[in-house]
Amino acid sequence: MSVSFHLCQPGRGASCGACCGLYNFRDHSRATLTERLATQTDTFRPLPQEPEAWRSAARGLLEARQATPPLFPAVRVCPLLGFLDAERTRVGCLGHPKVTGGADLRDCGVYRADICETFTCPSFTWLSDAQARLVQAACADWYLYGLVITDVELVRGCLRLLEWELAGPVDPEALIARPATLEAVRQLFALKETAPGRGSHAAVFGRFTPDTEGEPVSRNLDYAALGARASPEDEVVLCLGYVPQRLEELTAARELVRSHVHAVARALTVRPIPSP
Ligand code: SF4
Repeated sequence: MSVSFHLCQPGRGASCGACCGLYNFRDHSRATLTERLATQTDTFRPLPQEPEAWRSAARGLLEARQATPPLFPAVRVCPLLGFLDAERTRVGCLGHPKVTGGADLRDCGVYRADICETFTCPSFTWLSDAQARLVQAACADWYLYGLVITDVELVRGCLRLLEWELAGPVDPEALIARPATLEAVRQLFALKETAPGRGSHAAVFGRFTPDTEGEPVSRNLDYAALGARASPEDEVVLCLGYVPQRLEELTAARELVRSHVHAVARALTVRPIPSP
């Protein structure tokens, strides 16, 4: 399995800046990230295309951000990330030559340009073309796409639950083909943003929490402490960032996931009413 098209800027509303540290903050809400990207865009866009000016501006932004340290200190956050279009719907590197129109200013960020040029995240390897296309179609906005395309376990977990629900294989292309089904898939993936009741556990990012070195490490549910047995929804519950402290919280999170999977299955199996 691996993806044959470029996941970072696939178009049709989808774009990603996750590996540049976009979400690497305790508060990675859409509103806060929109504001940060706008500040970074407004800082670099008016500058002359000269490395010294860009390096100095990058230093200024990094210093100003010291009060909000990254959630995973081992993962760098690049200040060159910004909005690439006038409508502010597409996220990416402001120093990329395709964005500047010529100069390659990526060395002025926190990575070297050759690393930016060649890096591909694990999703390129672990997602199939069909799975990646489903995420692109269902999450056609910069905030949700980056959250979902980088969460292989979430995508696989949701599709596995759907296959259990339907007692058979599910072709992601069939989910894309019908607007009502695609909308239900969007609502399922959008739980990454909308799922309620996760606010007090800001020290996790989906399945991950920082270890003592600041590296992301995968976490698990403490079934013994919760007095619970494992359930098929738990992979997705973890990916959504739930840290249930009581059985009722775990039950509610599972039910939330189950209800959204039901909705996708229903949308996929209901026959459209033929027009008279
Ligand atoms: S996290 Fe993956 S898909 Fe997103 S910009 Fe980086 S390499 Fe591309």
